[in-house]
Amino acid sequence: MESRPEFDSQMYNEAVGQFNRVAALMGLDDNVADRLRVPQKSTVVSFPFRHDNYTEVETIFGYRVQHLTTMGPTKGGIRFDTDVDLGEVAALAMWMTWKTAIVGVPFGGAKGGVRINPMNLSRAELQRVTRRFTMEIINVIGPDKDIPAPDLGTNEQVMAWLMDTYSQHIGHAVPAIVTGKPPALGGSVARREATGRGLMFLLPQAAQAVDLNPDGATVAVHGFGNVGRYAAIAGKDMKAKVVAVSDISGAVYNPDGLDVEAAAKWVDENRFLEGYPDADFIDEADIFGLDVDVLVPAAIQNVLRGDNAGDVKAKLVIEGANNPTTLEADDMLREKGVFIVPDILANAGGVTVSYFEWVQDVQKYFWSENETVGRLREIMTRAFDDVHAIARLENVDMRTAALIKGIRRVADAKLVRGVFP
Ligand code: NAD
Repeated sequence: MESRPEFDSQMYNEAVGQFNRVAALMGLDDNVADRLRVPQKSTVVSFPFRHDNYTEVETIFGYRVQHLTTMGPTKGGIRFDTDVDLGEVAALAMWMTWKTAIVGVPFGGAKGGVRINPMNLSRAELQRVTRRFTMEIINVIGPDKDIPAPDLGTNEQVMAWLMDTYSQHIGHAVPAIVTGKPPALGGSVARREATGRGLMFLLPQAAQAVDLNPDGATVAVHGFGNVGRYAAIAGKDMKAKVVAVSDISGAVYNPDGLDVEAAAKWVDENRFLEGYPDADFIDEADIFGLDVDVLVPAAIQNVLRGDNAGDVKAKLVIEGANNPTTLEADDMLREKGVFIVPDILANAGGVTVSYFEWVQDVQKYFWSENETVGRLREIMTRAFDDVHAIARLENVDMRTAALIKGIRRVADAKLVRGVFP
């Protein structure tokens, strides 16, 4: 394989490393494999961002990467994060391709990112960055072309500004340009909860695989943003015992079970978990070594690494964040007998309800919450069964099986479309 310096980064190399291993195992056609290692289109922009103080103008970098356009529009979140770079966005776009294929929605993978710390921004600054970034990528996105969504550091409000900016440019309202927007603008009910809830729908099946009773199973959730919060709430609703949650300020731990809704209310009012009264406050990194049955990494990438995977006591790791486990930690956990439900399966509930939202926007016909959540559950649990069946048939772990399912579907589509011209 020729080197691809444009994308060189730890995350891209991990995504390609995983892909190469599974492509070899599957005996994937070399021409198709090489095409899938690199994204089809990458847009890099830089733009001026004026701070509220009117004196400082910073040059900001932004990215939109579309990995695969073979089967429909591309789909993927936009993250605002200090460390984001082209390689990271390219890796995340590739994982989105496998993810959409695993749950069988008619998209290819994309991802976007703006290198900025959203926690330092005022609301007005956040809005300016969002609108300017949207203008910078306006020609590469579109409801039939590439549809963004929220990710790390972005939320429903950011999606509303994106939708407004795009609509102002086109001259009429275009709700289908983005998913994860507020319901008042054509957002789907249950999208906000979809990723965390979808993940927890898999708990009974995953628990069965390791002979664990999901009722009363103890759960620690790393990250208490969109994914972590709703995973914790869904876990509690499903009678698991959520004993710890964390955010960037630290972790709260109560071995008797946390009142997750109260912790969420605390964060709404105080921004961070720090100071939450009804639990012990521990270091955010200590959450990985807690004596729990289920660990849900749902914050950022590379948190389970060679230096802490040995501390993990959980029998089940259900990955809410993208790429929370390094290749080294993945091997170590598997050797310890930990059952890992991989990110591209476990967090696919977000893109599944995003797909529902896009369908509803295009058809201008909206579904009830019961219908939406029922269909989400059906798609997630079926995807788990499909992946688990491949894992047993091929005698491989769940991550490898999920990649086989995703790559197989995409490769089949590529081969029947052929090469143009
Ligand atoms: P978010 O911004 O809503 O929440 C992130 C959480 O992680 C917060 O609690 C934050 O305090 C914590 N955090 C941030 N930086 C941290 C750090 N350096 N150390 C420890 N904790 C840190 O983001 P989100 O939308 O919940 O996304 C979380 C992860 O899930 C990301 O990997 C994202 O790509 C993935 N994901 C999100 C969705 C979605 O629908 N939002 C879907 C699929 C996957």
